[in-house]
Formats: sequence, structure tokens, C-alpha cells
Amino acid sequence: MLPPRIPRPALGTDLAVDYAVIGAGFTGLAIARRLQELDPQARIIVLEASTIGEGASARNSGFTSADVLPRTATMAGAEKARRQTALIRGAFDWLTGTLRDYDIACDMQKVGSIRAAATEAGEASLRSVIEVARANGIAHSVLRRQEIAERTGSGYYRLGLFLNDTYLLQPAALIRGLADALSASVTLYENSPVRQIDRTAKGWELTTDGGTVRARCVALANNSFIPRLGYLKLRMATIFTYAAVTEALGKADLGQLGTAPAWELRPPGDCCLCTGWGPRRGASGATG
Ligand SMILES: Cc1cc2nc3c(=O)[nH]c(=O)nc-3n(C[C@H](O)[C@H](O)[C@H](O)COP(=O)(O)OP(=O)(O)OC[C@H]3O[C@@H](n4cnc5c(N)ncnc54)[C@H](O)[C@@H]3O)c2cc1C
Repeated sequence: MLPPRIPRPALGTDLAVDYAVIGAGFTGLAIARRLQELDPQARIIVLEASTIGEGASARNSGFTSADVLPRTATMAGAEKARRQTALIRGAFDWLTGTLRDYDIACDMQKVGSIRAAATEAGEASLRSVIEVARANGIAHSVLRRQEIAERTGSGYYRLGLFLNDTYLLQPAALIRGLADALSASVTLYENSPVRQIDRTAKGWELTTDGGTVRARCVALANNSFIPRLGYLKLRMATIFTYAAVTEALGKADLGQLGTAPAWELRPPGDCCLCTGWGPRRGASGATG
């Protein structure tokens, strides 16, 4: 959906650095940025196997939120959600500040979220979530089948809970922008997969196709590929999730996706953001 981008050069020589970050998704770029803030004189590199904008950090559904809905209607549940919300708000404020400071145009818009139930069991589960929202004084609206159908175009769901808590953004534009916003003292190498890492007397040695990197510290930010480098073998469970991107939709197709300009819909009990979908309208088409 975005215009072509010229990747940064691959590593083509041996290097000695203070910090080597493996993986340039959200995690790797955040680590590199924070290391640079904490240690401005340090030599920091990020090694990315592919190119920016091709991995999960670019090809996700693009939903983000600064609010955590309590899991139970108890005081303890409310307190836990309050603490999690405070933490996530810190990150969210950082994100919005970075978008502004670096002029990152990623089409961020508030769309809210619909938790929706299609079955009797789903409805029972959703009613307890609605109770939690009520007990905690969280602004919400309960949607009947017809209202969900109007917003999303789907008459499949019998009950919904709308919360005005979620933003939708173009994740590939965000990760590109975050890579471009790295300080000049952080060097990013794309198309530079790390094949092996070995402990040495003074730190670490990283083997890549284009050269060997000696680093004082290494950050593994390559998500589910960490076990391939010999670490967290028994502590990582890889889950594959998928998104579909359609070609640009015409007016007739868009008309079937409800009246809301964009929306997210997720299962009743899902309190995290990794499940969701919604049409993104605009010149470039729609994601589902
Ligand atoms: C379909 C889908 C929808 C999603 N929807 C949402 C959503 O709406 N909201 C949300 O918040 N999250 C969502 N997520 C989750 C989100 O995308 C991930 O949590 C996030 O991208 C993880 O970032 P990361 O930097 O940890 O890992 P990644 O983005 O996977 O980055 C890891 C990087 O490491 C690189 N790498 C791997 N091995 C090596 C190696 N040996 N050497 C060098 N580099 C290496 C990879 O190429 C990759 O670029 C979704 C995920 C998917 C798949």
C-alpha cells in the first residue's frame, strides 16, 4: 500500500560495537532507541534479516489502545487494570509524541472497538464483560444485532459492546517512520540475517553473511526466531496469526462493510489487541 522504499545497506564488513540488536521490529527499534538515550556515546547497530516494513510489525492489523479493561468486576481486578493502563498510557504518550516530533504520517484515527458475540456461550461471556464495564464506570454502549450490522455490515453477531478505546493506524508506515527516526548514532543494516551467536571472553560474536560482529551486549529482538539462535528454546511458543489485504475496494464492496468509516471487532473475552479486523478505507484499499 505504501510507495517503494530503498532499504539500508546490508552489513558488508566485520565490526566491533557496544550493542548489537537482532531484529528491527517494534521491539528491536525500541531497544536501540532506549540504549542510545541511556548511553549516547555507545556504538549501536541493528541487524535486520529482511527489510523494514515486511515483518509482523508492519503487517499487523494496526490496532492500538491505551486502556485496559479489568478482567473481573472486583476491586483487585480494577486495581490491576489501573496499573496496566498507567503503564500502557506511558507507552502510548511516547508513541503519540514520537509521531508528532518526527512527523510520522501513519493515519492514526480513533475507531473504538466492538466486542461481539455470535453464540449463546459468547453472549454469556460478553454479558460479564459488560458488567465489568458498568461496575467500573467505563463509558460503553451495548449494541444489538441490527446496530452491529449497521456499523460493520455483518448480521452475524447477536450482541456487542462498544468501547471508545482503540486507535487504528497504518503499521507499515509507523515502523518505517520509527526506523527513519533512529538517531544517527544507531546504524541499521537490512537484509542482514544473524546466522549464529557465540559467547566470547569479552562479549559476543555474531555471524552474518556479510561479516562478523563482536559486541559487548546483544539484544535478541527477533521474536519467534530467537530459539533458532539457541536461546529460550523451551520458553517460546510460536503462534502464527494471519491478516488479509484485499485489492482496492470499489464503492459497492465498501457499501457492504457498514456505515462506520473503520472498525475493530473482537471476541467477547479478548482483552488484548492481537485479534481484530476492520476495513481501512482510502485510496489504497482495505485490510481485513
Ligand atoms: C496478522 C497479525 C495481526 C496483528 N495485529 C496486531 C494489532 O492490531 N495490534 C497489535 O498491537 N499487535 C498486533 N499484532 C502483533 C504485533 O504485530 C507483534 O506483537 C509485533 O510486531 C512484535 O514485534 P517484534 O519487534 O517483537 O517482532 P517482529 O515484528 O516479528 O520483528 C522481529 C524481526 O526480527 C527479524 N529477524 C528474525 N530473525 C532474525 C535474525 N536471525 N537476524 C536478524 N533479524 C531477524 C525479522 O525479520 C523481524 O523483522 C499482530 C500480528 C499479526 C501477525
